[in-house]
Amino acid sequence: CGSGEGPADMPAHIWEKVKDHPCYSSEAHHHFARMHVAVAPACNIQCNYCNRKYDCANESRPGVVSEKLTPEMAGKKVLAVAAEIPQLSVVGIAGPGDALANPAKTFKTFELIQQSAPDIKLCLSTNGLALPDHVETIKKFNVDHVTITINMVDPEVGQHIYPWIFHNHKRYHGLEAAKILHERQMLGLEMLTAAGILVKVNSVLIPGINDHHLKEVNKVVKAKGAFLHNIMPLISDPAHGTHFGLTGQRGPTAAELKALQDECEGDMKLMRHCRQCRADAVGMLGEDRSQEFTSDKLDAIA
Ligand code: SF4
Ligand code: SF4
Repeated sequence: CGSGEGPADMPAHIWEKVKDHPCYSSEAHHHFARMHVAVAPACNIQCNYCNRKYDCANESRPGVVSEKLTPEMAGKKVLAVAAEIPQLSVVGIAGPGDALANPAKTFKTFELIQQSAPDIKLCLSTNGLALPDHVETIKKFNVDHVTITINMVDPEVGQHIYPWIFHNHKRYHGLEAAKILHERQMLGLEMLTAAGILVKVNSVLIPGINDHHLKEVNKVVKAKGAFLHNIMPLISDPAHGTHFGLTGQRGPTAAELKALQDECEGDMKLMRHCRQCRADAVGMLGEDRSQEFTSDKLDAIA
């Protein structure tokens, strides 16, 4: 899956930021490890493909439940993992809800990690609704990498993906909800790009809903400065009880996913090595050592 990328392909200051992040560099994923800490339980939107009993499907394979951690437990876990896995270069917050719908927990975790392990890079993923409110804090913690899940750039499409959002103490539905989410995602993307933070955009390919629209999403996010686009397949299974699952929505075939990725492959980088990791994933991409570091085992390790 390596694209053969290297320092010759990109400006030095960008290479500095991607060279040891396994998700942003297909080369780095052979050499560096990442971990997610599941400190963010709440979410501020509803995606039709989500089942709240499991991890955020934006970044994670639905159907697996992460062990929820307090920021203090997460800080301790990071130190334990860093001692066992020296290749650990990045700690991310990717759920199980939305990192920025839980800002106190997310930023407390970053603060603790920064104090005890200042060499580790911080990373977060979000649906983007609350993003514009937190760009200053994200800058303050020197977060170099943010993932935004953007499944549409047209609220007409978005209304079939998002039944509601919760914004400014109010619940919005349908087209109005999708319009606000879209505007906030675009603003957040622009603000991060202006701040020099590398943005990866995740898009969930939902056949019949946004499959023909994702090329347009790719064009728009590229124009707004996203660094990497990661088109991921919807994993829809009625057993998981998602709204789409219940209505018989299928996920794309491997051939459909590849065809769309090929169409979008241009001068913008496309991520093809995403493993849709769980919100408490630990280790190199493609391996999951999360069960070695559950909280009951941490005392024995530390
Ligand atoms: Fe679920 Fe994630 Fe969507 Fe929130 S953003 S509803 S946790 S899939
Ligand atoms: Fe990287 Fe994808 Fe795993 Fe996130 S879910 S850590 S982008 S491989």
